[in-house]
Amino acid sequence: MSIGSTPLKFRVKIDPERCMNCGRCLENCSYGVYRMEDDKIRINSRNCVACHRCIAFCPRDAIEIEEKPNDYRSHPVWTRDVRESVFNQAKTGKIILSGMGNAKPYPVIFDHLVLDACQVTNPSIDPLREPMELRTDIGKKPS
Ligand code: SF4
Ligand code: SF4
Repeated sequence: MSIGSTPLKFRVKIDPERCMNCGRCLENCSYGVYRMEDDKIRINSRNCVACHRCIAFCPRDAIEIEEKPNDYRSHPVWTRDVRESVFNQAKTGKIILSGMGNAKPYPVIFDHLVLDACQVTNPSIDPLREPMELRTDIGKKPS
């Protein structure tokens, strides 16, 4: 644990009776939760974000992810979300985005977006603002 890290949110467990040490969980976790030590899979639950990729790749259904948020002292303004957001932004210098919708119960607006090319002119007024591209990469993650 480094100084200032956020409390553990998820506990990752591997059932030793089921695990066959194939290492697929290690290969497929992008968050550095797993490492191999003395021919055994070791776990750092603190890095887990509960994406469940390792679970999808485990051939023996040996992995269990349990939500385990440690409590903060309750405060009407400094809620868990606010504190963790401030911490993460300070630590990374980035705003954390949710890839599959917002983690909060906000209305989904992506399905209702209207893109209106109302400022397109020829010749363009601001060429840097006009190109638009939507790219979806499909395929296997390189090993
Ligand atoms: S993928 Fe499953 S069986 Fe393979 S090492 Fe990880 S926990 Fe064990
Ligand atoms: S759930 Fe995601 S982040 Fe957590 S150990 Fe599995 S692959 Fe890594």
